This record gives sequence, structure tokens and C-alpha cells, in this order.
Amino acid sequence: MGIRILPSQLIDQIAAGEVVERPAAVVKELVENALDAGATRIDLEIEAGGTRLIRVTDNGIGIDDAELALALSRHATSKITSLEDLEALGTLGFRGEALPSIASVARLKLTSRTASADTASSIAAEGGELATPRPAAHPFGTTVEVRDLFFNTPARRKFLRTERTEFGHLELVAKNLALARFDVEFALKHNRRQLWRLPVATDRARQEARLVELCGEAFLEHARHFEREIEGMRLSGWLAAPTFSRSQPDMQFTFVNGRFVRDKLLRHAVRLAYADVLFQARQPAYVLFLRLDPKRVDVNAHPAKLEIRFRDSRLVHDFVFRTVETALATPVESASPLGLPALGVSAAAGGGGVALGTAPGASLPRQSALSLGGRPPASGEYVPLYARLHGRETAAATSVADREDREDREVPPLGFALAQLSGVYVLAENREGLIVVDMHAAHERITYERMKLELARDRVLSQPLLLPVVLKVSEREAEIAEAHGEEIERLGFSLVRRGPSEVQVAAVPVLLADSGVDALVRDVLSDLAENHGARRIERSIDELLATMACHGAVRANRTLTLAEMNALLREMEQTERIDQCNHGRPTWTQISLAELDRLFLRGQ
Ligand code: ADP
Ligand code: MG
Repeated sequence: MGIRILPSQLIDQIAAGEVVERPAAVVKELVENALDAGATRIDLEIEAGGTRLIRVTDNGIGIDDAELALALSRHATSKITSLEDLEALGTLGFRGEALPSIASVARLKLTSRTASADTASSIAAEGGELATPRPAAHPFGTTVEVRDLFFNTPARRKFLRTERTEFGHLELVAKNLALARFDVEFALKHNRRQLWRLPVATDRARQEARLVELCGEAFLEHARHFEREIEGMRLSGWLAAPTFSRSQPDMQFTFVNGRFVRDKLLRHAVRLAYADVLFQARQPAYVLFLRLDPKRVDVNAHPAKLEIRFRDSRLVHDFVFRTVETALATPVESASPLGLPALGVSAAAGGGGVALGTAPGASLPRQSALSLGGRPPASGEYVPLYARLHGRETAAATSVADREDREDREVPPLGFALAQLSGVYVLAENREGLIVVDMHAAHERITYERMKLELARDRVLSQPLLLPVVLKVSEREAEIAEAHGEEIERLGFSLVRRGPSEVQVAAVPVLLADSGVDALVRDVLSDLAENHGARRIERSIDELLATMACHGAVRANRTLTLAEMNALLREMEQTERIDQCNHGRPTWTQISLAELDRLFLRGQ
């Protein structure tokens, strides 16, 4: 058989193999076209799980009657004209493949009317054969009807599952699309039954109402809204508490620049952030929106455009990991049942801080928050804790310390532990009143200072792993591990390069022995590769130790016994610079009895 060019209908059918896997994929392509056409309302009508009928109606810009046939031709698109357009894509589609592919394996009818047309036109196609367009009745916008999917490709038709399974896939796709675009109204009907009608949701309350429709009441009850923006990247969304974990990854919605994607990198980053608060086998639930310059994303990596590539993947991973981790560790601001004014100011998170809101469904109004976060002890009397204990206080502070010296003898400065609050704070009582400690922040500082001490003496104390771990890293990171072996050893690691992009870890710092080796070593290597490769490690040693300490610190939501809490308090008292964590956030605060009295209007 000689070489020949394939007939164009066959080419479309081959393309359809990639783009039109099943009814759900048709829905994705048609709704994305409607969104690209600027629709503010999209109606989906499905019959028999999408195998008999998929009808998508929108109120977008429409298609000119002269271009109807063109829309159904291969590689015909109105969305890009050059490679530059592709590199900074503002639309969901760009391949010009969906409509011809679908038309080649189904009975398709495209009806449309633009704002300037007096009437609508319609064109039919059956197995890729186009009929002549004819006038039709239709309001502004477009309807695409797809009937009898795979009617002419019996082999593929056999791969379709039951109506229920196909509809399940289809509904999941529709859910994703409806979550991606709160600014668009969606409706879904299956076998003439109305399943959803989702009005435009511009404010948080309406968005959360849509979330309840799509993800269920329970999700929202356990979820918290968050958002964070740095360096041109913005991450926002809802994270379910670990208590709402699932056995399947069926509630993990990720969107990049309004496009729903199944991205391994994003999922991995989120998974890692949940790692310390979730059992291994459980899956977190979340809805996440990442926005960044389209130039930093390559969407042309997958025929159905479900996978993407980030140009600076490490940066994105890091940003997502840290943001989610912080959001998970930040407590829900507790409500003051008496509606009292807020106490003090909450932690000065600085640029790029995480702002957390809470989901409705909780019984208490949470706006009048009692934020205990970052209040330094009353300014006039402020004496660093360590200084108080070790006599290194400033002159101004001496008198205060002296005065308290006698009284404080039996009760330690940070007092005795009473309880743990919301898995995040340790509450303790000292002579002055209530002490609130952010246990993660405090532990991080303790770990950091201890490692610095060990290093100053000689090297960070190291502990061999029971079984060495082999990690895949980038070539550059493997090179760094090789080139800086000695210095890395001083940091408490034993790392050997095992191949072009593999390292073997045989030991880690004692203080970090309980943290995930994988993430820890990766962080150290990537830190070295990204920031310090050229410089001597010596100069950035503190940054490195801080990165490491972050891994070793107890995570929020770990239950501590009273004895453990007291041990933490005693360690804090022994630690320099304990008043702030490595990121500059406060680690503890005092609320005096006098302040508590004022709150309850005592003695007035
Ligand atoms: P792509 O979306 O990659 O451009 P498609 O085959 O999905 O390719 O669509 C081809 C063209 O048809 C689009 O570029 C667009 O101009 C037009 N089109 C398709 N669907 C619609 C719609 N719902 N409203 C307006 N125009 C549409
Ligand atoms: Mg398209």
C-alpha cells in the first residue's frame, strides 16, 4: 500500500478520538465555546447520559451565517492568528478542532444569530457531511445540538458505559465549568428533569450558595475561603478542613486562569500542604483558583486542554504549597458571643498575607472576631521573654523585670498549660493572666535556634535513616548536592548523588527526623539551586536553617498532651528570639487579668 493523504473526514474522525472521548468531552468543548463567545447564560440539555442528545444554548456573540460552515471546518478558529496569540491566550479554545471533530462522529446542528443579523441561520452535519445553511428562528446567541454520538463509529460506541456512568462524567465536567465561572448563569437538564439552575454569583454569599449546589452543604460547612497574592500570582478558593477528607480525589477542583485543569503539580502541592493534617490514605477536598500571567502557562500541552505546563513550575508549586499550608494552619477567627469589640490587632501578616474568611452555615456570626493573633505584650512593659529570664534586658526593662522577679519565682513566665484551642493555640495561665501560644510558630523558632546552636558548635546533629531514600530531583539539584556535599553535611544531611537526577538520602537532622524526608530535602536543594548556588552556602545558612525548621515544626491540628504543652512552654523560655517565629510572626501573647476584667465589665 503506497503512502497517501487521508480523506479529511477520516482526519476529523481521528482527531475526534483525542478530543471527543465521551459525551462529557463534548459538553466541555461546547460550553467552552459558549464562554469564549462571551455568554452570560448557558443552558445544557442532556438525554440518555449525552449519548442521545447534548444541546448547549448560549447568549453569546453568535456566528455570522456566512461563517457557519467555516466553524465546522478543521483548523478554523476565530481565536488566534499567530504564535504570539497562543503564547498569551485569553480564550479557552484555540485549536479549531472541536466542532469538526464532533461533527464527524455525530449528528450536529449549529444554529446561531449575531446581534447584527435579522434572522438566525442553521447548518446541519451528519458524520461530517455538511448540508446547506438555512434560515431558522433563534434569539441572539448560539445553540449546538449533538445527537447520537458515535452513530457512525460503532467501535467507539461500544466503549460508552451505562447512561448513568456517562452522565456522571458529564455532570462532573459541567460542575467544573460552573465553578470556573461564577459570573455566568448555568442550567442543567437531564432527561427533561431540571437538575440545577445557578444564577450569576458575584458576591461571596452567592458563590457559596453555588458551591452548596455543586459540592454539597457538608463541604461548605467544613470549608474556609482564603486568598493570597504575590509576585503576579493569585491563589484563592475554599479548603475543606481535614475532618472533611474523602477516600477519593473526587472533590478537588483546580482552575488556572479560569480554565479547569487536572494538574499534577497543583494537586501535589496541595496534597503536601495537607500532609501533616491528613492521614495518608485520605483525600482532601478543595476548590482552588490560580491566576497568573497567561504567558507563564502553556495550555497547548494536551488535546483536550486538560493538562497545562507552567513555565516556572517550582515557583508555582512553592507558592501553592505555602499558601495552602498557611491557610490550613491559620485558625478560624473565633466569635465573641457577647459581640464585644475586637481585642487588639490580628497578626501583621505583611505583604502577601493570607486573608481568611469563614463559610456560612456556622451558627455564630464570626465577623466581630476576637483576634488573639499578633498582639505583643502591652507595649510599655514589653520585655523579651528570653531577656527576662537571662538578665539581658535593656535598662528600661530592668525595673519591670526586677519587680516581677520575686513573684515569678514559682510560676514560670509562660505559666502552666491549661488547654489547646482549635488545634493551633496552647492556652496557659501565669500570674498576669492568660497566655496564648501559636504552637507551630513557637516550635519553628525553637527548632531553628537549636539548629543554629548546633551548627555554631560544629554541625547540625544528624540521624541516620533506617532505610536510605532515593529521590528524583532536577539535574541542577543533583549537581548542587554533589558540589556542596560537605556543606550540606554540616546541615545534618547525608546526601549522595546517585545518577544524573537522583540523590540518595541516608541521614537527616535529628530535630527534623519526624518530618517528611522527601519534602525537606527537596526544599533544601531547591533553595540552594534557586538562590544560593553561586554564593557560598555560609552566607545563606540562616535562610536554609529557617526553611528546614519549618518542616520540623509541629503542625496545627496536632493534639498535644498537657505535659507536651508544658514542655513546649519551658523550651520557649529557654530559646532566644522566641517572641517571633522565623517569619516574623509573633509566637505568643499575653492577655492580662485586667484586660479580661475590662472585657467583662468587672469593677466598673
Ligand atoms: P476553537 O474553539 O478552538 O476556535 P471550535 O471548533 O471549538 O474551535 O470552534 C470553531 C469556531 O467556531 C470558534 O473559533 C468560534 O469562532 C466559532 N464558535 C463555536 N462555538 C461558538 C459559539 N457558541 N458562539 C460563537 N461562536 C462559536
Ligand atoms: Mg472550541
